[in-house]
Amino acid sequence: MELFATLDTMGHEEVVFCHHRESGLKAIVAIHNTTLGPALGGLRMWPYTNEQEALTDVLRLAKGMTYKNAVSGLNLGGGKSVIIGDPAQKSEAMFRAFGRFLQSLGGRYITAEDVNTNVQDMDHIFQETDFVTGVHPVHGGSGDPSPFTAFGVIQGIKACLNKKYGHTDLGKPSYAVQGLGHVGSHVVKHLRDAGAKVFVTDMNKERIEQCVALGAEAVGMDDVYKVNAKVYVPCALGASVNEQTIPQFRFEIVAGAANNQLATDACGDELHRKGILYAPDYVINAGGVMNVSIELQGYDRERAKRMVTGIYDIIGNVFRVADRDRIPTYKAADRIAEERIAAIGRTRLLRSPQVYERLYNGRRNGH
Ligand code: NAD
Repeated sequence: MELFATLDTMGHEEVVFCHHRESGLKAIVAIHNTTLGPALGGLRMWPYTNEQEALTDVLRLAKGMTYKNAVSGLNLGGGKSVIIGDPAQKSEAMFRAFGRFLQSLGGRYITAEDVNTNVQDMDHIFQETDFVTGVHPVHGGSGDPSPFTAFGVIQGIKACLNKKYGHTDLGKPSYAVQGLGHVGSHVVKHLRDAGAKVFVTDMNKERIEQCVALGAEAVGMDDVYKVNAKVYVPCALGASVNEQTIPQFRFEIVAGAANNQLATDACGDELHRKGILYAPDYVINAGGVMNVSIELQGYDRERAKRMVTGIYDIIGNVFRVADRDRIPTYKAADRIAEERIAAIGRTRLLRSPQVYERLYNGRRNGH
């Protein structure tokens, strides 16, 4: 990979390689775009088979955060970081060393939890820098983001119901929820509380049983795609909307928490063609990042909840732009993000009083 050519194509601002031999830290921080503010995005630890794979992953994820934060209305840019290594080998020293690297970036990148990192790891980072969110509530952190992500998914589902059926009654349609982990289990609870018919699937029997106890009906992992339900709620892994599954769908709406739900852009086009309403994944699952972003101003649960409630309007706007421009919803979300970054970027061209002050002071001082 020609690195600068890739950065040029993908639009990244900065890539930092962090190496600390004593703790075994090998990390890459990718800052994609800071037009809207400091880059916020999680830290993933993964046993990448080679450095190229890690670099490709962090560049892709950082760019995704730019879009997610922009469309969510946050004053934050996009970035992400990865530690190359086996999560079984993690140590306090490794995360503290990483924290020192973050400190040296002066706040241009702020980290958070992601795959294979947890509150304890964030607390270690917090020993060395303030540029970390997702720390323990005793340090002013927001705790587990999953209930907020689930609450945001529910707002997104309501926006879909409103668009498709002209009402927001969660209890009326039927649902198929794939993945009953941190987010999916909360989503099922919300839907059952509203009295909805809910089909569920997971590879973990205990999680299925917990949802069945709430009144959900279990279906097989391969059967979930052909269930006779109106709304498909993917809350497991990515790419579950693909060439094999779409032909089985009797769903009218796809709205769930999983990242990268569409295997390819063509799958998004196919949903559009079939009239299946798709709530773009990075918009509907932004409740978690919205929640941690509140930590930067001093965490307040009510404020976080109010912000996450806004996902209803944000998704509604995605549908409006999709209709206006006659494009699939996944493209509309990208367009809204890009337009916001461009518009806010242009306001930066207006000189602030401080800039004039610096200019005039410079003149007065004879520079
Ligand atoms: P999790 O690991 O707690 O739960 C995932 C569940 O999916 C597990 O119970 C697992 O057994 C199940 N699963 C995996 N493969 C499956 C399959 N093929 N069929 C059925 N079930 C399967 O994860 P989570 O935190 O609940 O996150 C769920 C999804 O939402 C992920 O894609 C994640 O990236 C995304 N997401 C989560 C958050 C958050 O706040 N946790 C925020 C944004 C996005």
